[in-house]
Amino acid sequence: FIVAADWIIDLGPGAGPRGGHVVAHGSVADICQSPESVTGQMLQRMGIQQQPTSEKLTANDGKTPVATARSMLKLSDCCRHNLQNITVEIPVGVVTGVAGVSGSGKTTVVFEGLLPALQQQLGLSSDASHNPGTLDGANDFAQVMVIDKGLPGRSPIATPATLSGVWIEFRRLYAQIREARRLGLTAERFSYRHPDSRCPGCRGTGSILVSDLNGATWWSTCPECHGRRFNRSTQTVAYRGFTVADLLSLTIEVARQHFTALPRIARGLDTLQGLGLGYLPLGQSGTTLSGGELQRLWLGRCLSRGMPGVTLYLLDEPTAGLHAAEIELLVKALRQLTAAGHTVVVIEHSLEFLRQVDWLIELGPGSGPAGGRVIASGTPHDLAACATPTGEALRFTGHMLSN
Ligand SMILES: [Zn+2]
Repeated sequence: FIVAADWIIDLGPGAGPRGGHVVAHGSVADICQSPESVTGQMLQRMGIQQQPTSEKLTANDGKTPVATARSMLKLSDCCRHNLQNITVEIPVGVVTGVAGVSGSGKTTVVFEGLLPALQQQLGLSSDASHNPGTLDGANDFAQVMVIDKGLPGRSPIATPATLSGVWIEFRRLYAQIREARRLGLTAERFSYRHPDSRCPGCRGTGSILVSDLNGATWWSTCPECHGRRFNRSTQTVAYRGFTVADLLSLTIEVARQHFTALPRIARGLDTLQGLGLGYLPLGQSGTTLSGGELQRLWLGRCLSRGMPGVTLYLLDEPTAGLHAAEIELLVKALRQLTAAGHTVVVIEHSLEFLRQVDWLIELGPGSGPAGGRVIASGTPHDLAACATPTGEALRFTGHMLSN
């Protein structure tokens, strides 16, 4: 869309407190010539220097990864909703994008086919109310992890610190401080959920629910702790001048600068920064996190903790609201999962994302009864040579040069 626009206004340069400036404005060519513009740099890397037309295709950066899968996950006899008794083959150990126009059956294949079929095979579900299809090639999988819009975390008690799993490491650190040991404060006591540690006014949420005469409700900063979540006694212990309540007010990026010497904490914070989340305060209320931020926090948790067995990751439009530069970070993070032997399947519309995956499956050709079939599969380069909606979109926008 940006490439097709007549006039572009690029805001930034970073996110949160590091953004807020107009870094470039003008045509595609103007944006590309601005060294401060992250968008311009992205467009240049995609080989776009001016508005492309359908006749004049631009070259991509040639970085298309080659599928390295050794085996296939095969889901056959899939006839849920509009799916027309299809077979879907997903390469194991790589990132696969599931594309197609809205209503073509992407969500049905992944969340009503692949997911329940593997859950049944793993003995995690006994729901026999519908047949998800026959799954072959899944014997090596130990678990399935869904990272979608329905993840828990949209409450004021959830924060980037707890959602990402990094808070447990901070709590262990604070419990080792001499003053904490003298007071008998264990790691559990440095949780803002603990009854003896949390602010009694807001029960550790840092905010209280208020309502007006019309019945409208919203979260307001707790007047007792001013959003710090902890009671006074827990705030007598400090590491390098920071109490646990101070810590919650730091962004991930700033916290990383202060905790360089502690490998487990540094690694956890590095992972989150690598996902483009450095601007988030550790204690930001879960009610104000976007769906994309939430998905990436969970992804950070999986990346820094590691999963005990071979896992199939299923993601639903994780790029929603992300800039092209952040999409690149997301793809990098997903590649860390596949490098560790896991398999990733992502439902996506973003061409910027789809052009970077290892393998694509396109459903369609239309939506509803006019969809429900696999109309193309292969590498992004293979798809760019197809006369399908996704293939044509990859070509037309200059995301991918047809072979
Ligand atoms: Zn409070």
